Amino acid sequence: MHNQTENKTPKLDTILSHIGINHDEATGALISPIHFSTTYQHPEFGQSTGYDYTRTKNPTRTNLEEALASIESGQFAIATSSGMSAIVLALDIFPVGAKIVASRDLYGGSFRWFNDQEKRGRFFFDYVVTEKDMLGAISKETDVVYIETPTNPLMIEVDIAKVAKKAHENGATVIVDNTFYTPIYQQPLTLGADIVVHSATKYLSGHNDVLAGAVIVKEAALYEQLLYNLNTTGPVLSPFDSYLVMRGLKTLSLRMQRATQNATEIVNFLRQHAAVKSVLYTGLGGMISFKVKDQSKIPTIINSLSVITFAESLGGVESLITYPTTQTHADIPQAVRASYGLTDDLLRLSIGIEDVSDLIDDLKLALAEGEKNDEV
Ligand SMILES: *Cc1c(COP(=O)(O)O)cnc(C)c1O
Repeated sequence: MHNQTENKTPKLDTILSHIGINHDEATGALISPIHFSTTYQHPEFGQSTGYDYTRTKNPTRTNLEEALASIESGQFAIATSSGMSAIVLALDIFPVGAKIVASRDLYGGSFRWFNDQEKRGRFFFDYVVTEKDMLGAISKETDVVYIETPTNPLMIEVDIAKVAKKAHENGATVIVDNTFYTPIYQQPLTLGADIVVHSATKYLSGHNDVLAGAVIVKEAALYEQLLYNLNTTGPVLSPFDSYLVMRGLKTLSLRMQRATQNATEIVNFLRQHAAVKSVLYTGLGGMISFKVKDQSKIPTIINSLSVITFAESLGGVESLITYPTTQTHADIPQAVRASYGLTDDLLRLSIGIEDVSDLIDDLKLALAEGEKNDEV
């Protein structure tokens, strides 16, 4: 960043498009090299370039981490090997027996790990569905408030600022999983959250070709604890994967805008369709959930799609459809799922950047196939 004017902070889109450039003073390479070396030569006994061993610190990862901190309006970031390792890293700094208030409608993998921790007495969870319940559940006993907003897949939103205020009054730390909205639509640290986690596998990377995670904080004290645990246990992001995330991030803003545009049109289409019972969409981003009137038609609908791919995951340039019941949320018992509205008639779409008319035609055809069987 040596050739940028000091007195003006660039806007988010400029920061994004400039990620990782102009870092190589030795050659002037616009795009920084990928540093594969796991170890670093010391200039002299007792000296270090700042890099010693790649588990501790790697120049390519550092470039990504600076970018992640910047786009989330944080001070420090850690790039991890997956979203799950970011979540584990963030929670592992809390003491044994810590009490956590968490969104009930969580990413299935987060719920699985939370549940395992609870069984071992590592953490205790109080799950809540709405913002009102979350505010009500926070007390002096609470150590951590863990938020997904919007939730996955029910798209329930909470006001981070309101929750953070109540949490801080009670001495609790606020963690937000910002995978769905990304800093384009929501910067939790500016709203009072203490720690942001991401599955960078999703929108941040955006191309379904890299598994990655991120933890971003404002406070040095939190960062030091996270860094100590990171260096001790080693769930770091590889140099090549760090490069891929940087490459993806450059177009984050464009991809999010297009996903929102496409999703808005698809929501309008789905809301008017006779086979659709309800549509869950917040108005921002590419994630849509919808419930069908006849759940038995779900296999036919899914099998009839050809532009939209039936696959897990989300946030890529290509549209995917997921059936949470048997895929992302299969580890949550059916009764628990049903208790908070994650019913077996729900399908989840991750809308990409294709031409929206192709996506709508695809859904039209698949939903029509689903209705055909009615006459049998
Ligand atoms: C996918 C996902 C995770 C887990 O991330 P991985 O990169 O798959 O380990 C966590 N939270 C949310 C909201 C996700 O969508």
